[in-house]
Parts: sequence; structure tokens; C-alpha cells
Amino acid sequence: MTEKFMTTDDHKKHDHSHHHPHPESFWSARAKALESLLIEKGILSSDAIDSVVQHYEHDLGPMHGAKVVAKAWSDPVFKQRLLEESEAVLQGLGYFGLQGEHIKVVENTDTVHNVVVCTLCSCYPWPLLGLSPAWYKEPAYRSRVVKEPREVLREFGLDLPDTVEIRVWDSSSELRYMVLPQRPEGTEGMTEEELAQIVTRDSMIGVVKVQPPTATVR
Ligand code: FE
Repeated sequence: MTEKFMTTDDHKKHDHSHHHPHPESFWSARAKALESLLIEKGILSSDAIDSVVQHYEHDLGPMHGAKVVAKAWSDPVFKQRLLEESEAVLQGLGYFGLQGEHIKVVENTDTVHNVVVCTLCSCYPWPLLGLSPAWYKEPAYRSRVVKEPREVLREFGLDLPDTVEIRVWDSSSELRYMVLPQRPEGTEGMTEEELAQIVTRDSMIGVVKVQPPTATVR
């Protein structure tokens, strides 16, 4: 067993009372108020709102990250730069921290599996992955993935052999992480656009692997 818990100097500065005022609570309160008003006035149904949120959560947001992953899989030079200077490369593509935070991309290999968490709250690479899933904000995930990552990943359906080292990256207000998942076998002939379609949000958080497309006609 070779689990490691990566702490960064950045995380020690993870002081939420000062420079991480959690504007999401402010915005979510505003959004809730607007939502209630629109429903009350009969302008919107809560089902319609749910479907918009779903769209942002599952389709729109993660697509940015998925495009970056597909590009890295297709272009080794881009991939090297992405891993070495994530910040500059992502900024060049128009993806940068909404609150000025930095983003680092970490690569999964045959021997290393990376998974991302924010142990103190819910820091997340929004520009790349959109809204974070509900489980990412749950205290259970935040505390357990650090202590027993192998077990938590197993619960997500990812059973890693003991020979694979698991690295847990703790996000902070200054530094957030995105996982570059492994390109699955059987995707050799796929274009960058096709590859982007199979990259999931959860694979870029590091709780699952990317699966090859199932509906391929052979
Ligand atoms: Fe946080």
C-alpha cells in the first residue's frame, strides 16, 4: 500500500475567513430567492430549473475540461506543456480562476492515480469542470478520501491494484487541481472531438476512469 496525502504550502494558507469568502453561498441565496419568485409568479417550474442546473453540472461545465483532456491525449507536446505549466496553458485557452486561483493538472499513469478533494470546504476548478457534484461537498467524501482513498474509490466502482500509488490532492483557495485521466484502450482511431465526448466530470476529479465508448459499431 502506498497511499500518500499530498499537502501543499498553499493549503496551509487555506484560510477561509479571509480570502475565500465563499461567494457561492451569497449567490445561491440570491438564486434561491429568484427561483422562488419565478415559480410563485408561474413563470418557471422547478423542473425547468432543475434541468438547467443539470445541464450546467453535467454537460456545459465539464466539457471545457474534457476538451483539454482530449487535446492532451491527441497532442503529446501540448500534454507536456499542460502538465509543466498548467496555468499558462489553460489561460491561453481562456480558462482561468474565477477568483484568481491557480489550476494545476496532474496526470494518471499505469502506476499513479490522482484524486482531488477540498478537505476544508469545496474548492473546485470551476472554469474547467463547472459546478461541483453534491458528493464532492459532503463531509464524508472530504474526510474519507484522505484517510482511505482506496476504499472510497472502490465505492465509486474503481478497484485499483495495490501496485498503483494513489495521490490525494487537497485543493485550496489558491490552488485547484484537475486530473488528466488515462486514455482508454480502443480509442486509437478517435478524433479529438470524439475523445472529448467520452471524458466525464468524475474522471477529471479522479474518482473513476474514462471508459471506451460502448456504442461503437464494429
Ligand atoms: Fe475549499
